[in-house]
Amino acid sequence: MLTRRAFLSSMVVVGAGASGFRFQSESKQARVGEASLPQTTEPKPNPESVDLAAIERWENLFDDVECGEVIAQFVPLTLTSEADEEPYMRVWKGPCPFCSKSEDSLSILQSAYWCHACGTNGTAIDFYARIEQVSLPEAIRRLEILLASGQLRDRRALQERYWAMMEEARRFSHHLLVDTPKGASQCERLAEQGIGRETVGRRRLGFACPAFSGALTDHLLSYGFSLCELVDHGLTRTSPTGAKRYDFYETMRDVLMPIEDAQGRCWGFLSNARPLANVYHDGMMTVAPKRMQRLILPPPIWQEDARRSERVYLARTPNEWIMLEEHGVTNAAYIGPWTDEILPPARFRSVLGRADTLCVAVWEKDRLPQARIIENLLERMSACLDRLKVCRVPVGTTLSELVRTQGAARIYSMMEASVPVSRLLLGDQ
Ligand SMILES: [Zn+2]
Repeated sequence: MLTRRAFLSSMVVVGAGASGFRFQSESKQARVGEASLPQTTEPKPNPESVDLAAIERWENLFDDVECGEVIAQFVPLTLTSEADEEPYMRVWKGPCPFCSKSEDSLSILQSAYWCHACGTNGTAIDFYARIEQVSLPEAIRRLEILLASGQLRDRRALQERYWAMMEEARRFSHHLLVDTPKGASQCERLAEQGIGRETVGRRRLGFACPAFSGALTDHLLSYGFSLCELVDHGLTRTSPTGAKRYDFYETMRDVLMPIEDAQGRCWGFLSNARPLANVYHDGMMTVAPKRMQRLILPPPIWQEDARRSERVYLARTPNEWIMLEEHGVTNAAYIGPWTDEILPPARFRSVLGRADTLCVAVWEKDRLPQARIIENLLERMSACLDRLKVCRVPVGTTLSELVRTQGAARIYSMMEASVPVSRLLLGDQ
């Protein structure tokens, strides 16, 4: 989990720096540069040259290579933690090939190494580039080849295992929704909200509640997964004594919306009642954290989706997003509970990659939520506030109701009429 401090610092490093998006309009950059900043001869980055696919390819490599597996190709390593320790907790030791000062000065974790004798440290990619004496791009290219050929296999095997587990969890929870009497009542409730059977099937929505306690765990055990795997991944929880076990999702007592990536793989489930509950999934966060942190609905496909729309509306709940999509609003997205400070900055990067302007809803005359929304968004988007606008929604209604009663055109016109967040701060309403 990100602490508040870590979140803010990573926003600077990841959100505003590495992603390289245009966080200020060109006119504003020019104005600030002329008025207050010293003139520089350094070329300004070309915002349109940002290649999101390339950034994600780099991140994928961080997810896919196990540091110990790469280093073991060059020096003999000894596992110093228990053999059955979870992969991300394993510690390896071995001789450092860069200083040879002692036999086991090198320590290696899942994603990093360091030498206690000479101080050299870094990721698997750093190690490979240094020991092979190649550039970083060449190291990346070669490591991708080693992954594709199956020579580096450890982490990908675990990812594939977890994806298979989640796929079966998705299939089973969908079955609970569409094939059981308790699920039928949930489907009726969804229909009342305007989410029909077609959407339930297309989105493969699921259901979990205490009435089915342990059913998913039993199903996955019968399917060939071990209890240890289910607990490590976070699908199954056990009581402190270990005597009782239950499904993590049953505590949601709600319809479940699968979180999918662009390849259609399931990463976990969102619940409309508790959207916070599973933004992070234990297993996926340990074996594919970069991919997990940038997941949004719908998953973008770069470069096709880059700046696809002029505006994108940031839905407040999974249900709001699905309702808008069902009624033809194609430029809405759900990135998680964006008023929460643990939301990874990479999700803002994903959604800002889709459109020039991000629109959020505020309710007219609803002062307290407005202040809360502004406080949170100022923290998260301080470097790109010119890309944030607010839509005013009449008190006593929701976007879901508006789109159901007045259609997608009403939402589009509301987004077109959105105003800069500063208008709210200045009282120009
Ligand atoms: Zn060393």
